[in-house]
Formats: sequence, structure tokens, C-alpha cells
Amino acid sequence: MKAVLFHNHGGPEVLEYSDYPTPDPMPGHVQVRLRAAALNRADLWVREGWPGLKLDYPHIPGADGAGEVSSLGEGVSDLKIGDRVVINSSISCGACSLCLDGMDNLCRDWHLLGETIRGTYAEYVVIPAINLLPLPDTMDYEEAAAASLVFHTAWHSLITRGRLEADESVLVIGASGGVNTASIQVAKYIGAKVYVVGSSPEKLALAESLGADVLIDRSQEDNWSKAVFLATERQGVDVVVDNVGAGTMPLSLRTTRKGGRILTVGNTGGAKFEIDNRYIFGKHLSVLGSTMGTHTDFATVMELIFDGKLKPVIDRQYPLKEAAAAQERLAAGEQMGKITLAI
Ligand code: ZN
Repeated sequence: MKAVLFHNHGGPEVLEYSDYPTPDPMPGHVQVRLRAAALNRADLWVREGWPGLKLDYPHIPGADGAGEVSSLGEGVSDLKIGDRVVINSSISCGACSLCLDGMDNLCRDWHLLGETIRGTYAEYVVIPAINLLPLPDTMDYEEAAAASLVFHTAWHSLITRGRLEADESVLVIGASGGVNTASIQVAKYIGAKVYVVGSSPEKLALAESLGADVLIDRSQEDNWSKAVFLATERQGVDVVVDNVGAGTMPLSLRTTRKGGRILTVGNTGGAKFEIDNRYIFGKHLSVLGSTMGTHTDFATVMELIFDGKLKPVIDRQYPLKEAAAAQERLAAGEQMGKITLAI
């Protein structure tokens, strides 16, 4: 099969469009002929590497994907060859106590597809059958691939972890990235009032088109925590979605109202920063972290995607062999929504 792979860490130049043996499905697994993949920031971090990350080279990146079932492993009976499917990239063992309790994203042997195991920048991928969801005829592969990781992540963070309710206020830090555009939509779907801090008028216009109620342009308004404070009758918001980290978390702590929650699923701006702990205990704040979501979260949120109630924002599509250019666009941070690959 054709795949985009790399043999050592580095910049986009380490990505090669090359041949790789087509994987066969193990028992309980399914081989999928991929038609679309989508990029995530994790793809860049895996390519660049971090201390302790050990990959079985050559590595194929990519978490998001959709395509057709092309071969069934032993024991798989609920799917058939030709079924159109989307991939849940949160891979768990299915047997530990956390998996059996429905908290499979806390699995003791958890993997993200494309991070520690070979992913979706390829013509074929092998995946546990439980990680596939059938696609309705109305849903195309690109939209399904673009939606899956970011909406799964946003749903688990805001709903399962954050317990967001209709009469609450939510501040989303960042207007145009994949998880943020998904978070804005999930919060609006629940009925919350949504505030967004964005870095440019163009990105805020996108947030507004997704239903955001209050827009704050941080290129004009350096101290956005004060702007939120003034917009909320000096109370702050119930929930802050901060997936930036360094540079924003100190202000996020100030912007959250007493008893509020801060949700985080990542740190695009950097992982290490100083925290003024007085905000956490003095305001009874809860900081709730999570990664990906459960199988139940995936089925729930994808149903809303299939019904058109939530919709992925797609920036641009590249052919698979131009994955390096696609990653460069993601790294530059100019994209509005998801960057996808046609396979
Ligand atoms: Zn497990």
C-alpha cells in the first residue's frame, strides 16, 4: 500500500510518501481501506518526538480516518466487507477494570492511533472492530474523518467531564482550531452562553458563524480576562475551555467564576506555566483534564454529526502524498478548522 511514513524525528521533510506492507487484521480487528484522514496537532508532536516516545519505525502518523471495511479478522460478525465506517482513534484493551466500567479512555493499556501505533496517513489501517462506527449514506468520508477526534474530545471534556448545563456560560480560548470549533458547537448545542477569545477578526467571524455569543479579539484586547469580567457583571464564567496552556492559563484562572471549572485537553501554546494557586483554592475552582473520550461518548457525538446538529469545519484538503505541505499549514496556525487528506 501507499503510506506517508517517517524513519526518524524531525521537520516535515522527514515525511516520505512510500510503499509499506498492507497490514492484515488480527482476531477482533478489521482492515479499513481509508478514503480520508484528518490532521491533528498530535501528528506534529509525534513527528517531532519527545523524550520517552519510542516508535516502531517506520512510523505512520494520523488518528482520524474514514473508509470502507476491506477485510475482517477472526470473530468479527457485526461488520461486513464494503461497510462505510469512521474510526474512533482511542484504542483500549477492552478487558481491564476501567474498560469494563465504561471508562475506556483511562485504560491501563491505552493508545492513540497514529501516536504510538501506526495510523491513518495510509491506504489501509487495521483497527479493533469496536473502534468502528458505520456511516450513514448521507455522510461523506472527509467530513466524518474531520469530525471524529475533535468532537469526541470536545464532547468528553464539556459534557462527560465538565457536566456543562444549558444555563451556564462557557469561555473558549481560541476561535478557529479543530477542538475549539467543536467545543463552541457542543456548548451551543447544550444551550450554554458562549464567549470566545480569538486572535483575529477572521477567526472570530468563524466562531460567530458557529453560534458564539460574545467575541473578544485579543489582538485588540490584551487583558481579555478583564473584558470577560466586564461582560459577565463582574462574575466571570462558569466554565473555561483552555487548550492553549502557557500564556493563557494564568488568565483563565482569573476569568473563572467562584465554584467554576477549567477544562483542558491539551496545550497548543506550551505545557509548562506558572499558576497562582490562590485562584484555585480561593475561588473553589476545579481543573478537569481529559484525553479523547469513551466509546459511548464517540457514538453519542457522532450521531449528532450524522444528524447535522454538529458540523466539522473543514479548512482545506490535500492529497495523501502532500501530507508534508498539509502539516506545514497546520504548524503555521493559519487554518480555519480541520485540514484533511484525500486517500
Ligand atoms: Zn483497558
